[in-house]
Amino acid sequence: MQVEQNISLRQFNSFGIDVTARRFAAFQTEAELQELLHASAQDQRLVLGGGSNILFTKDVDGWILKNEIKGIELIKEDDAFVYVRAGAGVNWHAFVLYCIERNWAGVENLSLIPGNVGASPMQNIGAYGVEIKEVMEELEAYHMHDEAKIIFSNKDCAFGYRESVFKRTYRNQFVILNVTYKLRKQPVFNISYGAIREELEAMGIKELSIKAVSNAVIKIRSSKLPDPKFIGNAGSFFKNPTVSKQRYDALKAQYPLLVGYANTDGTVKLAAGWLIEQCGWKGYRKGDAGCHAKQALVLVNYGTAKGIDVLELSEAIVKSVEEKFGVELEREVNLY
Ligand code: FAD
Ligand code: NAP
Repeated sequence: MQVEQNISLRQFNSFGIDVTARRFAAFQTEAELQELLHASAQDQRLVLGGGSNILFTKDVDGWILKNEIKGIELIKEDDAFVYVRAGAGVNWHAFVLYCIERNWAGVENLSLIPGNVGASPMQNIGAYGVEIKEVMEELEAYHMHDEAKIIFSNKDCAFGYRESVFKRTYRNQFVILNVTYKLRKQPVFNISYGAIREELEAMGIKELSIKAVSNAVIKIRSSKLPDPKFIGNAGSFFKNPTVSKQRYDALKAQYPLLVGYANTDGTVKLAAGWLIEQCGWKGYRKGDAGCHAKQALVLVNYGTAKGIDVLELSEAIVKSVEEKFGVELEREVNLY
């Protein structure tokens, strides 16, 4: 295990922001993590996975601990389910493909989401009507100060819309070591999102399979979303805001094309991308920071933008959406 000093984090965050970390080390086992925690006890520490949901706005005057714990293991099974444990450092999409190959269902809608297994419960990753909370059984996490290993059940994670206990209450306190997922032997398909249905039809799929759903999701995502290999980004920068039905009706009367989806609790989720686009930001660029031309919810770094440039752009967007629609956008991306 090597500890590096003053290294650029550019290749370790999908925004491609060029900040420096005073110390950087990757760990592959719990023992290596413990060693690093002792070495860094007096300093600030930040755990990093794939770096695809973080915006660095300053240098890291402390340690980056990169989680590279690997391994996928079938823990147990019954008639209906398999329980599969994956190391936090396993690439998320590789895990999805591993499950699809074995016909284990539940994560196919989450194909091609960048990042690693360890961060999947952090923000309850979701796409096309499926969230991690539907398939996560439990996880093991290590408390950085108390040096104790704790098991969190699904309920303990207090999952919400792109939220969990790790994003707020326990922010920067735990290192997630591994996650166990409960996957189905017989799939229950969720193709409620129009885009998936349309893509499956275009692909000429007559009989649904988890492989077909995954392929459809991969096709849609590849055509719509900027690939961080070429344009720096962290996916959706903001969450879709939720408003009361009353507020939605008032906005809809004023803006008939407003895009909203009813939540089960009677509130309505607005498509943040539509709100941002209506404020004229889609395709906007100032220097190397911009708002993507195909998906307004995604802020991008065309090359040499600083984190602060992206942050300032995001703040201008929040302000204009608030002024035009009276709706407050909340950031989804983690800020450092
Ligand atoms: P990182 O960026 O490394 O970390 C994110 C946060 O989690 C940080 O605060 C970090 O400290 C913490 N963290 C990371 N690993 C651990 C750990 N082991 N223990 C404790 N804390 C940890 N997200 C979605 O939900 N749905 C999508 O459809 C989606 N699409 C995306 C598309 C693109 C093109 C991009 C770039 C991003 C997209 N995202 C999406 C966001 C991102 O991929 C997810 O949030 C992903 O789970 C982040 O994983 P990561 O390993 O890169 O996390
Ligand atoms: P889209 O299909 O253009 O739809 C826009 C928004 O409307 C989505 O954000 C989605 O909300 C919502 N929506 C669409 N159909 C819906 C339905 N049938 N029921 C409820 N809500 C519906 O979205 P997109 O940008 O191409 O993204 C497709 C999916 O991938 C979405 O689920 C999105 O969350 C996910 N994604 C996430 C990120 C990220 O970084 N978090 C990045 C890219 C894509 P939800 O977001 O709540 O699903």
